[in-house]
Amino acid sequence: MTTCEVYGLRVRQARLLRRMTAKEVLAKMGWSGARLTRMERAETVELAVQDVDHLSEVLRFPAEFFTTAPVSRVEPSDLSFRAPKAMTAAEKNRMAQVMALSGDFLLQLHAAQKLPPLLIEPRPTLDPVAAAAAAREMLNVGPDAPIADLTHLMERSGIPVMMRSERFGSQGLEGNSRGRLEKHLGCSVWIGEFRERPLVASRELDSWERTRWTLAHELGHLMLHRNAGEMTDEREQEASRFASEFLAPYAHASASLRSAPSLVNLLPVKMKWGISLGALLRHFYESGAMDEHRYETLRKQLYTRVNPDTGFTWGRTEPGWDDRLPERPRLMSRWVEAVYGTKSVQALAARRLILPVDVIGELMVGQRGPAQKAVATPASAAAPSVTGRRGAVVEVDFAGAHRSRQA
Ligand SMILES: [Zn+2]
Repeated sequence: MTTCEVYGLRVRQARLLRRMTAKEVLAKMGWSGARLTRMERAETVELAVQDVDHLSEVLRFPAEFFTTAPVSRVEPSDLSFRAPKAMTAAEKNRMAQVMALSGDFLLQLHAAQKLPPLLIEPRPTLDPVAAAAAAREMLNVGPDAPIADLTHLMERSGIPVMMRSERFGSQGLEGNSRGRLEKHLGCSVWIGEFRERPLVASRELDSWERTRWTLAHELGHLMLHRNAGEMTDEREQEASRFASEFLAPYAHASASLRSAPSLVNLLPVKMKWGISLGALLRHFYESGAMDEHRYETLRKQLYTRVNPDTGFTWGRTEPGWDDRLPERPRLMSRWVEAVYGTKSVQALAARRLILPVDVIGELMVGQRGPAQKAVATPASAAAPSVTGRRGAVVEVDFAGAHRSRQA
């Protein structure tokens, strides 16, 4: 009987990606007992070739996937991410393995064509404000310079960004009327054999303000909380403080304001630095620009004033909400195109990659084509290329994103 060596983690990854329970896989394989669980926990097992083929069929992953050594090892506790209570263990595990597979996919691309070198270096001993200044310096952004495209800045500095279409388990986000900045929109992790490369994931949001702030928040985790273990309230606050200071350094962002600014005074600050009024309010309050009473008063205004364009409060759709398009990453799609000479799913399928094409499609959700500009792309120019979410490569349909916001 011919056998081959199968990696336990690969079996687990494929099962989680397919959202199958061990029981379901056992039944389909005609196995019994704890065989699958034992296999998933083992580093490697010897398996008959026909069993590998059967497994490949059941899990819809190429047989080569199971026999290729995993490089990135990610468990839910490695994610800078506090899972909402509603999120199941299976969802958390799946999330971790999606990050691991993205990591391995990026490293595979890296082996063919070097990814941009990593410019940031974690500074866990600094306070969030000092870390934000340090990060700007590492990324070669002056302390007084607004960041036009944060996603592009991160990606060209060696921090790939991926978009996730799932909700990270949190419900009713858009209806969050208390105005708390939602904490579960993104997550980040260090991938690679030595966890030497960061990877950031964000939910595919149609708010440009939330997209930028989420990425800045994850950058904060990367700078401050590498190997920090579980994300506590305190760490979340640190990453949030970092995010606001990184996007809008207080000393410069507040320079043109008189004391006791109003929401209307803050609007030009928002538009210049690319940060929401909600985040700015908190940022200015924490930086000492206003007392608690004024902060609470302005916050109340934010969540009671109605935006006539949308019928929602400013808290939900702030003035300027549709002045920019939400940023989208492009590193992964760019590298796929450079390495495989195509972004088309059909063509990728012929390349015998170790990942199924639909999984590559999931990893590449929201990636935009290299020719598209994030800002001021006419809606008509944003032709979706291949696929849908289950299919494969998705280029962002900006027009669609826009419409759905107005819906
Ligand atoms: Zn966080």
